[in-house]
Amino acid sequence: MFYVKETINEAVEVKIDIADNVFCQCPKCGTEVEIELSDFIGDKEFDLYGSSVCCEKCSRKFFREVSK
Ligand SMILES: [Zn+2]
Repeated sequence: MFYVKETINEAVEVKIDIADNVFCQCPKCGTEVEIELSDFIGDKEFDLYGSSVCCEKCSRKFFREVSK
């Protein structure tokens, strides 16, 4: 498992499993979107810093516009 490690203070260090706790913000409306990281691993276009994922509502709108 991969996890994110964050030291809060000298006494507290948290490890967060990133497989289940990955979120990003929809670039169109700012809604928080939960990401299934394993869906993106292996995707050549995916880049942890440069990629963002639209929320369901915006991606539906996007696909509707594309398929017009
Ligand atoms: Zn959105």
